[in-house]
Amino acid sequence: MSSEELTCKEVVEIVSDYLEDALSPQDRTRFEEHLAVCDGCTNYVEQMRETIRLTGMLTEEQVPEDQRQRLRQAFRDWKRA
Ligand SMILES: [Zn+2]
Repeated sequence: MSSEELTCKEVVEIVSDYLEDALSPQDRTRFEEHLAVCDGCTNYVEQMRETIRLTGMLTEEQVPEDQRQRLRQAFRDWKRA
């Protein structure tokens, strides 16, 4: 990962690591800095966290693909709004 600011695309890619607490402290800080300024990603992370909680799945990888697709679609809609 570069030392540049995270893009929304990168946030979506590493959200599972974030939720599993698998990011380095540095990446975690960058992730949270992005969330602080980006409502779309904040919503995405919250929805993903909620989905994991509701389904009892341990990780984003275990969330059914169709549900992940729906979240990503919703995420794109937020970005457009
Ligand atoms: Zn974002």
